[in-house]
Amino acid sequence: MMTDLTVGSLVEIPKSSLQQVVQILQDLGYRVIGPRVESEAVIYDDLESVQQIPVGVLDHQDGGKYRLQQTDQDAWFDYVCGPHSLKNFLFPPRQTVLESTRQDGVWEMKAPDVEDAPPLAVIGPRSCDLHALRVQDRVFLEGAYVDPSYQARREKLFIAAVNCRRAAATCFCHSMQTGPAVSSGFDLALTELDDRFVIEIGSQRGAEVMGGTDCSTSPPQNVQAARSVSEQLEQSMHDRSQHPPEAATGEPRGRWLDTSGIRDLLMHNLEHARWNEVAERCLACANCTMVCPTCFCSSVEEVADLSGDHVARERSWDSCFTAEHSTMSGGAVHKSTKSRYRQWLTHKLATWHDQFEMSGCVGCGRCITWCPVGIDLTEETAAIRADSTNPSPGQL
Ligand code: SF4
Ligand code: SF4
Repeated sequence: MMTDLTVGSLVEIPKSSLQQVVQILQDLGYRVIGPRVESEAVIYDDLESVQQIPVGVLDHQDGGKYRLQQTDQDAWFDYVCGPHSLKNFLFPPRQTVLESTRQDGVWEMKAPDVEDAPPLAVIGPRSCDLHALRVQDRVFLEGAYVDPSYQARREKLFIAAVNCRRAAATCFCHSMQTGPAVSSGFDLALTELDDRFVIEIGSQRGAEVMGGTDCSTSPPQNVQAARSVSEQLEQSMHDRSQHPPEAATGEPRGRWLDTSGIRDLLMHNLEHARWNEVAERCLACANCTMVCPTCFCSSVEEVADLSGDHVARERSWDSCFTAEHSTMSGGAVHKSTKSRYRQWLTHKLATWHDQFEMSGCVGCGRCITWCPVGIDLTEETAAIRADSTNPSPGQL
């Protein structure tokens, strides 16, 4: 057992010893979440044992496409983002925010105590996921109003992040400065080598957890091998976006989003013809907003039981692609699909900067993969840039 671990220490464990990390977290009272396969997708769910991790599974993603492939490789984390993200747990799709009960003619109101929920430990988030968490922190914790349920879950969150060894064709973190290397905001950061994990300790809690395992100091050659994983992946992501494959190969092209002057580019092209073209394909189904790890819109409804003595106020995810989202006394502001898609994209990539001083997109590619008609924000933005009606976009 190592006792001198500190933030920044680099240790390693045999792959099978990841179970020790899971066990220690469980013993500390954490609900441990990790990657699992369900309904033919890699999602996050409760992890009782590392044997539930989908070893050897690769994901193939492209616009409107997601397929898993089982290989015989001893690769524990070579799939990338699935439809779930940390948002599903910190800002759940549906949650009760207030309960009202009538007893003897008197109404009593009570907010559910989120402090009762066990702390959450998540194994497997990637660099883009940690940047998305930073975006949601900005929204839920750093504005005029703090969301108490998000805050309670966030303060107790333990993150064992993973450095990606491969990227899906839909990933473009390298153009958003959000990956692929995990850089901050983690308790542990794992890099998978052939037979071991090299683990960077990112917090005192992470040091305490690793101190209970049979980890050893990682020798310089393994630390260098771990660093090379991210460096080589980033280089290959740049190469593939600069040299797209021939169409005849059927290989998906790698994505890249040119962010130079993007705020002004979009805001000065609000009547560009491309908005009409994308609206002809968009189904306004809201899939893109549901899977996006940064989208934060919600609506609230009162749900009464049949007795009339109990009413739950429930908050659920909403989407700017629905008519109700922008409905006010005079009707919906965003009446057309064109208007809704434009609202979504300009918020993500332009007005988010005004509102939160950061981009609303971390380049995870989920919205591209899970759009049933394969609408791709990198493609839409590039088309507007290629034929911009604005002669001189700004610098943002
Ligand atoms: S807009 Fe798309 S690529 Fe960007 S963070 Fe959301 S889901 Fe990921
Ligand atoms: S862009 Fe795609 S996922 Fe989003 S609402 Fe339109 S059809 Fe649905």
